[in-house]
Amino acid sequence: MNTNTQQNSGPSHRVGNKKTRPHAQSKPRTDAPTRAPATTSSSAKPTQGQNRSRRPAHNGAQRPSRPSHNRGSNGPTRTKKHLHPAAGGKVQKRRPFHGSKKHVDRRPVPKIEGETVRVIPLGGVEEVGLNMCAVEYKENIWVFDAGFQFVSEAEMPGVDYTLPNITYLEQNKHKIKGLIITHGHLDHIGGIPFLIARLGNPTIYTRNLTAIMIKKRMHEFPNVPTLDFHVVEPNDTMMIGDLEFYFFAVTHSIPDCIATSIRTPHGNIVITGDIKLEHKDGIPVPGEVEHWAQVTKEDNIMLLSDSTNCENPGWSIPEPRIHDNVDEIIRNAQGRIMIATFASQFRRMIAFMKSAESQGKKIILEGRSIKTNLEIAKLAGKYTPADGVIIQAADIDKYPSDKILILCTGGQGEQFAALPRMARGDHKYVKLNNRDTVILSSSVIPGNEISVRNLMDLLHRNNVRLISYKTSDVHSTGHGNQEELKWIINTVHPTYMVPAYGYHSMLKIHKRLAIETGMDDEHVIVPDNGSVIEIKGKDDVTVLPMKAPSAPIMVDGFSISDMQHTVIADRQLLSSDGIFVTVVSINVAKKQMQKSPDIISRGFVYLRESQDLLSQARGIIKRVTEEQIRNSDGNRIDVETLKKQIHKHLERFLLRKTNKQPIIIPVILVV
Ligand SMILES: [Zn+2]
Repeated sequence: MNTNTQQNSGPSHRVGNKKTRPHAQSKPRTDAPTRAPATTSSSAKPTQGQNRSRRPAHNGAQRPSRPSHNRGSNGPTRTKKHLHPAAGGKVQKRRPFHGSKKHVDRRPVPKIEGETVRVIPLGGVEEVGLNMCAVEYKENIWVFDAGFQFVSEAEMPGVDYTLPNITYLEQNKHKIKGLIITHGHLDHIGGIPFLIARLGNPTIYTRNLTAIMIKKRMHEFPNVPTLDFHVVEPNDTMMIGDLEFYFFAVTHSIPDCIATSIRTPHGNIVITGDIKLEHKDGIPVPGEVEHWAQVTKEDNIMLLSDSTNCENPGWSIPEPRIHDNVDEIIRNAQGRIMIATFASQFRRMIAFMKSAESQGKKIILEGRSIKTNLEIAKLAGKYTPADGVIIQAADIDKYPSDKILILCTGGQGEQFAALPRMARGDHKYVKLNNRDTVILSSSVIPGNEISVRNLMDLLHRNNVRLISYKTSDVHSTGHGNQEELKWIINTVHPTYMVPAYGYHSMLKIHKRLAIETGMDDEHVIVPDNGSVIEIKGKDDVTVLPMKAPSAPIMVDGFSISDMQHTVIADRQLLSSDGIFVTVVSINVAKKQMQKSPDIISRGFVYLRESQDLLSQARGIIKRVTEEQIRNSDGNRIDVETLKKQIHKHLERFLLRKTNKQPIIIPVILVV
């Protein structure tokens, strides 16, 4: 089934009924699931000093981080000029772009009717992160997860993270009956402090550890209203609003994960959150099977499941194997051991500490998130080390080196984290030597390849024994591989399946897996952020042609908005081509320039070596200004026109001479 929901207006896209499906729907989608750059309209009027023409195509193509304006939308007739967003041009929202904009149905989502149940993924189905999904029925909306996503500097310079777009929820705030949080990872809870007040501060339904993690984080956000928690336990059944919810435990890399089965009039909707399976040689352990015992017996109309690892064949490495392997390394080490792991790998962090403690070793915690998570583990009753086991780094030399285990952050090579500081020799108390063993109990997050490689090189320069997930089983993913995902589909046996939690490409692969389990192609729906899936009956599931707003919200310092695109586009230009400011003073009475124009530039060219360029640029500014003065009417100078003229001529000249397009700002002083 093609799941493109961006078709023109027309009948809803019926899922699972070939006869009534519009013919056009059967075409596979060919567009690439890339993020759209911030594009600008070419029809708006230019204003002073901000418009610029396109860089020659051969050049722009080599600069992936540059926002490439006009791309793709206007076809061959597009004008050569485009407008910088600051020029007041209509700015397209920066958002994942899945097809021709011509086919986007921009009508608002209509009101829900009758017994219809809606499933609306608002984030996390076009990316890994910013997870949020809404389920709507009559006068009820339940929201699942409120995550954020870290973004790369190249893509969105200066932006701290992005959040799901909650416009649809804000418009229907009165209906929100609860926020269900599946587990405590930031891509599921990170958005709460920014969004909860805008959602009307609904009750948060989650398990104990997750509640503690959310509360702990709220200390950093004193202005957020006090949160209302309802702690749920596995196998709890409860009414929330008009429908019954059944919660059940699932396995992931953090304890207290919860999945939900919502009992709707059309069957249950099962939402897993992040998930893997505890198994032994590909056979789920009895405890795992027990988790799913109730769900497998019931009538499930729809399953939303984790796609993160659907590209990996077979079964994931069982977490206990990691614990056993590291336990053995800790036991056999002759010197100190440093283990870098994600603080979010809660379960593993506790297992490593237990290992060290049972072997009579002292533990040093280096890194704020690791210390915080030990506090949380204590509060949640998951683990409390015996007195004296945790020691301060300053006391490291008081103990024999084979009695020391350091749990630290920095496995991704983060510049200021503990392990990279040790590797550089910058750590105040820990100086590495050839008797140390360093374990990188983490995988490389895409985008961090170079910093991890640099870290590994630095560690080897210290002649430590380095063990990473590449050389032995010291890291396992928290997300199920293909055979686990298939097992889940077979166990839930849903009528419809919605791959979730992942990039579009992952969702599509997950769809293929679902088909391998015997599901009908038409019954697997790959949504976009904002897609509105409507369930009206067992054989009546449709995807509406219109979508809920889905452009991610950007958190940029204290500013939180989905309208930051112009600022981001400026930052990208500044970072690639710099800024060029010229100050022109004109004596109107004398009808002449006061002095030679001043030029200030940053990040553009090295001025000392560019005197020739600057004097030519001054010549152009002078010529343009004198021409404007000559054409001026009496004692009045048209400053706006002069700015535009200077901008136009300078831009052309600088592009020709340097192949760069700095932001040009002419400043005119009239005296
Ligand atoms: Zn997770």
